[in-house]
Amino acid sequence: MTHSNPPVSADEPIPLLDLAAVHRAQAAEIEAAVLQVLRSGRYVLGPEVDGLEKELAAYLSSGPVLGLSSGTDAILLALMTLDVGPGDEVITTPFTFFATAGTVARLGAKPVFVDIDRATHNIDPKAVEAAITPRTKAVLPVHLFGRAADLDALTAICKRRGVPIIEDCAQAIGTRIRGRSVGIDSAFGTWSFFPSKNLGAAGDAGFLTVNDLALFDKAKSLRAHGEIQRYHHRWVGGNFRIDELQAAILRVKLRTLDAENSGRRRHADLYRQAISARGLDRVLRLPAPEGDTTHSYHQFTLEVPRRDECVEFLGKRKIGCGVYYPVPLHLQECFASLGYRRGSFPQAEEAAARVLSLPVNGRLTDAQIERVVDALAEFYLR
Ligand SMILES: *Cc1c(COP(=O)(O)O)cnc(C)c1O
Repeated sequence: MTHSNPPVSADEPIPLLDLAAVHRAQAAEIEAAVLQVLRSGRYVLGPEVDGLEKELAAYLSSGPVLGLSSGTDAILLALMTLDVGPGDEVITTPFTFFATAGTVARLGAKPVFVDIDRATHNIDPKAVEAAITPRTKAVLPVHLFGRAADLDALTAICKRRGVPIIEDCAQAIGTRIRGRSVGIDSAFGTWSFFPSKNLGAAGDAGFLTVNDLALFDKAKSLRAHGEIQRYHHRWVGGNFRIDELQAAILRVKLRTLDAENSGRRRHADLYRQAISARGLDRVLRLPAPEGDTTHSYHQFTLEVPRRDECVEFLGKRKIGCGVYYPVPLHLQECFASLGYRRGSFPQAEEAAARVLSLPVNGRLTDAQIERVVDALAEFYLR
């Protein structure tokens, strides 16, 4: 039982995510931090960013960290640091948020999609190996929904073939494999502080973890137009900086991230129990068992039959839910020239048709989780 939350009436809406409620939980501290930055006169790359970068590196036990303007820019910057451009290929998953592949295409390189492992919704390492060519400049797995991709297999393949890995960790802060964070042992980990992520800013922000110190220096320079010294540019970079204001907010929220993630894990357990207690596990496919990974449950995502009808039904019961993602990237209009079609990646396509994400976050009550599962039972078992 959760005792810290007030009782909730039986038909009060259950939102998928309520960012104002997230803010309320730490409002006084966050608002004080914001005021302090406003009054300091220091708004870009100052003490708050320094502090945040150090605290993140300590939290993750990672190499050096670069605070950035967004998770998208983190991927872009990692690719730019590796000189990815026209003629290059980057192998990635078609079942992810658009930015994972959009950044590759923006640099004139070719996203090469391979199918997913349906159990985890993450990229299939065997398919990655089969897709490596002499043009492969990087492999870009995603830890989708906070579930770790099979990094052991991917790392073995990529080491053997001499291809660097960029891990898209946008949904995976707090995700671990045998106790060790994802994103810290590959060439790069790219992370997002988009407001809806487990650790969210009050606007756009992200960061990069880098293993190799020479690559770190280059990425840091590219973050500010490729400057190596004031007004001397070795590379063509961009403005990928994070704001002091966002860094100050994030430092406050980082302190409660582990509690937030434990809350999500507890709710995931509760969903599993309530779903099997009602015999719903014969109809719904639950997220794969965690094995030696720690899931951060950015989303609690099931596969369900009659998905769209179910979404509508939950809506009538005032229960928020999400579909991530309804259209796999190889079928996006902007990637038509890559030549994929329906049937190219059957696992990703099936997943896109069946996935349903239910509310998980540190503020839900046990009773609310029960109400979500009751509604599913009413829809599927009546
Ligand atoms: C959120 C997200 C991104 C992009 O992050 P932004 O901060 O929104 O730019 C990239 N990849 C994945 C998998 C994401 O979920």
